[in-house]
Amino acid sequence: MSKLLLLRRDGYKQEDMDSAVRELFEHFGGITKFIAPGDRVLLKVNLVAGHSPERCVTTHPSVARAAARSVLEAGGRPVIADSPGIDSFNRAARKAGLADAARELGVPCVELTDPVPLPPLPDAAFHKVEVSRLALKSDFILNLPKMKTHAQMLLSLGVKNFFGCVASQRKAEWHYNVGLRREAFASLLLDIWNGLNAAPQKGVRTFTILDGVVGMHGLGPTNGKPFPFGVMAGAEDALTMDFWLCRMMGAELEDFPLWRAAKARSMPQCALSEEDVAGDFPPQRQWEGVDIPRLDSLSVVPGLSRLPFGSALERALASRPAHRSERCTGCGKCAAVCRAEAITPRGKELSFDYGRCIRCYCCHEMCPSDAIWFQDGLLRKAMRLFGK
Ligand code: SF4
Ligand code: SF4
Repeated sequence: MSKLLLLRRDGYKQEDMDSAVRELFEHFGGITKFIAPGDRVLLKVNLVAGHSPERCVTTHPSVARAAARSVLEAGGRPVIADSPGIDSFNRAARKAGLADAARELGVPCVELTDPVPLPPLPDAAFHKVEVSRLALKSDFILNLPKMKTHAQMLLSLGVKNFFGCVASQRKAEWHYNVGLRREAFASLLLDIWNGLNAAPQKGVRTFTILDGVVGMHGLGPTNGKPFPFGVMAGAEDALTMDFWLCRMMGAELEDFPLWRAAKARSMPQCALSEEDVAGDFPPQRQWEGVDIPRLDSLSVVPGLSRLPFGSALERALASRPAHRSERCTGCGKCAAVCRAEAITPRGKELSFDYGRCIRCYCCHEMCPSDAIWFQDGLLRKAMRLFGK
């Protein structure tokens, strides 16, 4: 059996989403292989912020509806949940259409709160990660990511979506802790994904159904542009899904921090085989014109942070956030999410303290008005000089 199934779906008609979810489960042995009657099933949507479905930031409500229906039919108890970065959960769920989808089916739609320690696995890089109790204690997690590019991590696909199981403000704390080290952040993502998968009572504890009907490219995960990938994807192994989609979107695996982190751990998913992929899309580059963000890969200068003045040098090399006051509404979300306290808002004007800024780009991610852009750092400037 292949490890990844890709189905063509060009729109969000409910019957098309219902049939896609059914087919994806059937390919992997049927939903009853994963979910037993009475199981509490977390439907982990992407609700990073409160945007309407047309903005393509969040999991489409028809996908959540189809997934919840399948779980109900299997006798499970679905709960739609996530933890937005800064927005109020109820407002975000309403705006994204997820609250309505849940209400129609009589399913709870709740915020992931109540952090509890994630038992670390022997090969974990981080040993003090906390995730929401609901994520840890659910019998099964049905992961429902949105297919998007990501200004900091290149792509936001299956594995990245599990980061939402870290409750609200703690996400910003992790961004602050790892700072500019993208491989370290990717390694944290691997720890969270591995930890949530490793439930003692079940062989497989997560299944990923990715909403790529209309995803996002450019400066995602919130301020990019919609892109019609026309795909629904399913996999037991979210990491294999991510690596294949990275290739098919036209990005280099070596540029994907998640790939580099997995490679450093010699994870078997790094050995891609075309036999892994089945369905309506052959395992070659599929989508032309996807705008993949250009990351300032500081890994080209290994050990930089350990040099004298290394962290100052890193900041100079990396692109930095800048403000477009003409788009700003003065909402203050950027300053609220910035754990480095590098932003001082003054109405619709902002000032950045670049000595404090750790280039995590959370301010860009949380800005609802696309009022934050990036000024090239020295690395990007040098690359442009050499035509890269
Ligand atoms: S200013 Fe933006 S990029 Fe810099 S640390 Fe704060 S949130 Fe992160
Ligand atoms: S830059 Fe964006 S997040 Fe910050 S105050 Fe302006 S509109 Fe709000």
